[in-house]
Amino acid sequence: MTAESAAAAAHATVYGYPRQGPDRELKKAIEGYWKGRVSAAALRETAARLRRATWRQLADSGIHEVPTGDFSYYDHMLDTTVMTGAIPDRHRAAVEADALDGYFAMARGTQEVAPLEMTKWFDTNYHYLVPELGPDTVFAADSAKQVAELREALALGLTAARPVLVGPVTYLLLAKPAPGVAADFEPLTLLERLLPVYAEVLADLRAAGAEWVQLDEPALVQDRTPAELEATGRAYRELAAGTDRPKLLVASYFDRLGDALPALTRTPIEGLALDFTGPAAGNVEALAAVGGLPGRRLVAGIVDGRNIWINDLEKSLATLGTLLGLAGRVDVAASCSLLHVPLDATAERDIDPGIARWLAFARQKTGEIVTLARGLSHGTEAVSGQLAANRADLTSRSGSPLIHDPAVRARAAAVTDADTRRFPAYPQRAPAQRAHLGLPLLPTTTIGSFPQTPQLRTARADLRAGRIGTAAYEERIEAEIGEVVAFQEETGIDVLVHGEPERNDMVQYFAERLSGYLATRHGWVQSYGTRYVRPPVLAGDISRPDPLTVRWTSYAQSLTERPVKGMLTGPVTMLAWSFVRDDQPLGDTARQVALALRDEVADLEAAGTSVIQVDEPALRETLPLRAADRDGYLAWATEAFRLTTAGVRPDTQIHTHMCYAEFGDIVQAIDDLDADVISLEAARSHMQVARELAAHGYPREAGPGVYDIHSPRVPSAGEAAGLLRKGLEAIPADRLWVNPDCGLKTRAWPETRASLENLVAAARTVRAEL
Ligand code: GLN
Ligand code: ZN
Repeated sequence: MTAESAAAAAHATVYGYPRQGPDRELKKAIEGYWKGRVSAAALRETAARLRRATWRQLADSGIHEVPTGDFSYYDHMLDTTVMTGAIPDRHRAAVEADALDGYFAMARGTQEVAPLEMTKWFDTNYHYLVPELGPDTVFAADSAKQVAELREALALGLTAARPVLVGPVTYLLLAKPAPGVAADFEPLTLLERLLPVYAEVLADLRAAGAEWVQLDEPALVQDRTPAELEATGRAYRELAAGTDRPKLLVASYFDRLGDALPALTRTPIEGLALDFTGPAAGNVEALAAVGGLPGRRLVAGIVDGRNIWINDLEKSLATLGTLLGLAGRVDVAASCSLLHVPLDATAERDIDPGIARWLAFARQKTGEIVTLARGLSHGTEAVSGQLAANRADLTSRSGSPLIHDPAVRARAAAVTDADTRRFPAYPQRAPAQRAHLGLPLLPTTTIGSFPQTPQLRTARADLRAGRIGTAAYEERIEAEIGEVVAFQEETGIDVLVHGEPERNDMVQYFAERLSGYLATRHGWVQSYGTRYVRPPVLAGDISRPDPLTVRWTSYAQSLTERPVKGMLTGPVTMLAWSFVRDDQPLGDTARQVALALRDEVADLEAAGTSVIQVDEPALRETLPLRAADRDGYLAWATEAFRLTTAGVRPDTQIHTHMCYAEFGDIVQAIDDLDADVISLEAARSHMQVARELAAHGYPREAGPGVYDIHSPRVPSAGEAAGLLRKGLEAIPADRLWVNPDCGLKTRAWPETRASLENLVAAARTVRAEL
C-alpha cells in the first residue's frame, strides 16, 4: 500500500483558495472601485497580483496541481453565468456596455435594475447568485476568464495548473426560473442546450494547455431523482465524447455521492473527486461497492475544507491506503475548496499557543495535504517528523484542561428527558400567559434589534481603541435603550424590546461572553461578494461565567410598564455560525450551549422578564443535505432548544424567531420546539408561511412578518393590514401576532419609525374588524 502499488506518486492539490488576500486587499480594491476611487485597471492588477501570490505560495508549499478559475470578483456561480452567456435580459445592456460594471450590476443591482437573487451555497455560510433561466434562454460560451487565468498560472511555470468550473448539472440544479417564467419550469431541461457550451469551454482550455479540468458537481451529494441522475450520466457521456478535450475530473463535496456515484462511474470521465470527511466518510464503502475506479484517478478530499482543526494525519493515511486499492491513482486534497476557512492560523497571535497548535486554516491545510501526499507516495517514514508532531498536537488536545471542564460534562451527562419538557403543555399554559401579560388581540412586537446608528458603531470603536472607558460606553448603550423604549411606547407597540444596541453580531456577542469560545482576529471568511465574517471558534466545553444579557433587558424593563422581551441567540444558531469542535458529536456541543443559555433564561425570568425570545434563524439552513440524516439532526437541534427554554414558569412566554423564506419541510420540527410564539419572515411571500403552518395544524401562536426589512421601502398601513387579513385566513385572531420579518439593525431610523407606526395602525384597523 505504498509507492510500489501506486502507478504514480500521489499529487497534492486543492480545488480553490480564499480570494481576498492576506490583508483583504481584494475587498478593499473592489469597494474602492465601486466608490470610484480605484480604476478598473488597478483593480485588475490587484486581482492578478493576488492570484499570482496564491499560486506561488501553493506551489512553494508543495502543491503539485494548483487550481485556476476559482478566483472571483464576487461569486463563482455568477462567473459561470457569464461563462455560459446566461445573462438576464434586464442586465444585458449593462454587460454589453462594460463587462465589469455589468458583472457588478448583476451582483448588486443598480438604481434601475434588481440584482440576481442571492442564496446559500449548500449548507455553508457562503452565498451565491442564483442563475435565472427559462425556455428562451440562449447560452453562448465565454471562456475568456477561465482561459486567461489558466494562462497566468502556466506563465508562472505551473504546468499542471487545473481549471475548476462549476459543472453543468449543478449549475442548472441551482438555477431558478427567470422572472416571468412559469414557476414549475425546470432549468435542468436546458441541459442539452448547455452541454455544447461546456464542450467549447473545455476545448478552449485544452487548447490553452490544460491537461485536466475539474467540473464541480456538489449538487449530486443531495438526494436526486432518477431523472436527474440519468441526466448526469448523459451529461458526462456527452462531454467525454468530445475530441480535443482535457481529461475530466468530476468533483463532489459536502457529503456522500450516493446514487450519483454509480451514475458517474458508468461514464468515461477520467477522474472523480470525493469527500471523505464527516458524513461523507461513507464514500469509502460506497466506492468499494461500485468496484472502485480501476485505471482511473481518484482525488481524495481527506482534509476537512470547512472546519479549522488540524487533521489526524495517521488516520487519514490509513484511509488513503485503503483507497489506493480502489483506484488507478489516488491524489490528495481538501474535502472542498478552502474558500470556507480563513487564510492563516499563524496570524492569530492572541490565541493561547496551547490551543493555536490545534488550528489549521487554509495555509496549514495545504501543508497537511502535501504531507499526506508525500506519506502516501513514499511511506510513513518519509513524513515521520510531521506525523510525530501531529500526534503530539492531537494528544495535547484530547486531554487538554483548556477545553475540558468536568463540571460542564457532568451536568450535560445528567440531563434527563424531563429537563427538556415544558409543563404544562401549550394549551394549558397559554391561558396563564394571557392572564399574566394582558395583551390585546393581534399584539404587536418587533424581532429584537433596532437601527445600529453610526453613533453606536463609533462608541464600540472608541471602547475598543481605549478612547472611552466601560462606564462611558455603557452610558451610551443605556441612552440608546432609553430612546428605543420611548419610541416603542409612543408608537403603541405591545411587547417591547431593548433594541440590542450592545451587540455587534447576534452570535459573536454571546461567543465573547461564554467560556469555551475563542475569537479570531484575522479569521475572515467570505460570506458573499466583499462581505466577510469572522466566525468564532467553539473550541471547548461551554459555560457561562456571568449573565449575558440580563443587565440590558432589566434596564429596559425599568423604563416601562409594558413587557420587555428578553432576547437570546439559540443553541443551534450559535453552532451554525461558528467553527465547531470536531472531537464530539454536534448534539453534545449543542447541549452544553443550551445549558448555558438555560441559566440565562432562568436569570432573565428571575429578574422579571415575562417574555423571552430565543432566535433560531439557522435551524432550517443547517438541515443535513441528505434526507436520511435529517431526523437525527432535528432530534438534537429541537432538544437543545427545549433544554434552553423548558425551565421557565407556565406563565412565562417563550418566543422563537426564524427568517429566510422556506419552512414547509420543517413545520413539525418548529412544533417540536414547544415555543409559545414564533415569528417568521413572510412579507415577500405574502404570508405563505402562515398557510404552511395552518396546513400542518400548527397549534401555537405565530407572527408571520408584515414588514419586509430587507429593503428601505416603508410598507403602508393599508398594505400591512392586507397582509394581516391574509394571515387571519390561516391563523385565528387569538393566535396571530403582528411584527416585522426580522430585526431592524440594518435599517435607518426614518424608515423604521414610519414602518412601525404603519404596522401598529394596521393592527388597530384589523382588530376593529374582528
Ligand atoms: N434578534 C435578532 C435581531 O433582531 C434576530 C436576527 C436574525 O434573525 N437574523 O436582529
Ligand atoms: Zn431574522
